[in-house]
Amino acid sequence: MAVNQALESRLAGVRACLFDMDGTLYVGGRAMEGAVELLAAVRDQPHLVLTNNSSRSRDVYRDRLAALGMTVALDQVLTSGEASADWLFHHTALRRPYVLGTPALVEACERAGLTPVDERGDPDCVLLGFDTTLTYARLAEACLLVAAGLPYYATHADRTCIDPRGLLPDAGGLIAAVEVTTSKRPVVLGKPEKSMCDAGLRRLGATAAETLILGDQLDTDMTLGLRHGLLAVLTMTGEVSAAHLAASDVRPDLVVQSPAELLALLRQAGAPVVR
Ligand SMILES: [Mg+2]
Repeated sequence: MAVNQALESRLAGVRACLFDMDGTLYVGGRAMEGAVELLAAVRDQPHLVLTNNSSRSRDVYRDRLAALGMTVALDQVLTSGEASADWLFHHTALRRPYVLGTPALVEACERAGLTPVDERGDPDCVLLGFDTTLTYARLAEACLLVAAGLPYYATHADRTCIDPRGLLPDAGGLIAAVEVTTSKRPVVLGKPEKSMCDAGLRRLGATAAETLILGDQLDTDMTLGLRHGLLAVLTMTGEVSAAHLAASDVRPDLVVQSPAELLALLRQAGAPVVR
């Protein structure tokens, strides 16, 4: 992609990066072209890897990247669960969430300084995640607490999760079940919301203007970047086709074919993040 002067100067100011993982750094068991080199190039500079999946722990992602030759520390993995817990701790006085989520989400809450409790522990809010350990009893309890008026949050609102067998229900399906029952919708905290952005920037110690987000999705990664003032770079390694992009209202700041192309552009611009 030809880079104009305004874009070149924004690239030249990039000090920190957020990288979406699935569809951006890898797909299935394969690293995208240039992903290993890009992660190596930013190794000593502020960067995080992101996912909206709140069902798995950060270790899973650290290990998955390591198996593909990409090294990140545990605290450089920001799942929507980590970001949500972090945001609740820093932006609210709520400390005792009823978690409709996996043990990994419960642990993320504990790490952030929250004390997850069940219905007998006097919860002060409900946090819904992608609960692959869902039981009817816990779904029912979450509905009762939401109906009773507790502040209600969700780690993300993705409708489906891609699986080799087809599309599976993600957090959006659980949000729908609670809504059918209670007529209430949660405050969503993951991508593309400001809460996920704030949690990421706090961890990076960087401002939005000096941070780049690389992702493969228009409605999550690019919307997060464009809404909150980050340099939004779309990689065409995911499911977005040229036709999708042309038809969308979401206009990334830059479109690259792969992480390799972004790395070349950052180097050409002399961005601090790859120095
Ligand atoms: Mg993705």
